[in-house]
Amino acid sequence: MTTHTTRMLIIGSGPAGMTAAIYGARAGMQPIVVQGLQPGGQLTITTDVENYPGFRDIIQGPWLMQEMQAQAEHVGTRMMWDTIVDIDLAGGSPFRAIGDSGEEYVGDVLVIATGAQAKWLGVAGEQELGGKGVSACATCDGFFYRGKKVAVIGGGNTAVEEALYLTNHSPDVTLIHRRDSLRSEKILQDRLFANDKISVLWNKEVLRFAGDPLAGGLTHLELRDTVTGAASQLPVDGAFVAIGHAPATELFKGKLEMDESGYLMVEPGTPKTAIPGVFACGDVMDHTYRQAVTAAGTGCMAALDAERFLATLEFARKEAVVIAG
Ligand code: FAD
Ligand code: NAP
Repeated sequence: MTTHTTRMLIIGSGPAGMTAAIYGARAGMQPIVVQGLQPGGQLTITTDVENYPGFRDIIQGPWLMQEMQAQAEHVGTRMMWDTIVDIDLAGGSPFRAIGDSGEEYVGDVLVIATGAQAKWLGVAGEQELGGKGVSACATCDGFFYRGKKVAVIGGGNTAVEEALYLTNHSPDVTLIHRRDSLRSEKILQDRLFANDKISVLWNKEVLRFAGDPLAGGLTHLELRDTVTGAASQLPVDGAFVAIGHAPATELFKGKLEMDESGYLMVEPGTPKTAIPGVFACGDVMDHTYRQAVTAAGTGCMAALDAERFLATLEFARKEAVVIAG
């Protein structure tokens, strides 16, 4: 088994992991990034990105991630095509992780940037029309539906917030929920019901996203009433699936503190977990903002805090050598 040793081990290669790597490499921590099954992260499965600062024209998500990777490598990051399948945090620094390849990774500090994935309905047309009318992020894609008719699927806080947000662009927003009451907080529900751009379709489930991916994209939704079983159609230009996100934290169960939805807990306002030397950044610790720029921001914070941790650790190790000698 080959062991790769580094001062800074980063798990995840989305905006959070890449930014941590850029800062870490420039601070001389010779980072290793283990990229996982989705090198470049969530932005590699979208097309237009219009809200990442620094670009006046629309840029492409996969291109942005290639640029981040190139920048991270340029300043000295090593990229590993591997997925971490086991990790030992119990003994403190250095932290040991095992890759799917069987290789071992050892880091004095560990930065967790494994992100989160939107949950999908798993029905016909959803995948094929992804980015062509079907989305899971209103903040990202709502702008593309200015003046058009859109639907949001779900009944929790995310769905209600997405529906409210979409009224900034669309005069006609339909919230589709499978039951007859919402799960979201009352204050959000009050805002939703008071907004005359939003209507709610109760007791409806989406059976199919219909349209031609190659010509015009999504045209309508095929629905079924969950009480009567009656079939219906809803013509829409855009549909936003908002049934929750799943943070990629399986690996850390029983090893790090998580909230009830599985997001990693950090000291408020910092990327510090309860284990000294282990930092979490990006969507894996943030169920509120979930944007590329916020992920990059917390990636930067993780690298800066990692540097401080390492300075203290290395000072303590030198002191121990002096005392022992
Ligand atoms: P992710 O991007 O989720 O990256 C996680 C990384 O962790 C991946 O590289 C994955 O391979 C890796 N990983 C996971 N588990 C392991 C493991 N066990 N071992 C090794 N690696 C692992 N945001 C915007 O700001 N603007 C937009 O226009 C925009 N559009 C979007 C469109 C879509 C369709 C989606 C899904 C999201 C969009 N977002 C947008 C949100 C944005 O993509 C995320 O907020 C951002 O990517 C989060 O970055 P991250 O680095 O935290 O995690
Ligand atoms: P959530 O609370 O789990 O709600 C998911 C919604 O999607 C539920 O209404 C659920 O229906 C519906 N749903 C799930 N699977 C479905 C399926 N297969 N088909 C149709 N509908 C489906 O998720 P969330 O709204 O993303 O919120 C997650 C957490 O983040 C919550 O703790 C929430 O409070 C928090 N959050 C907070 C804020 C805020 O404070 N402003 C904003 C966003 C999120 P049922 O109701 O029938 O189960």
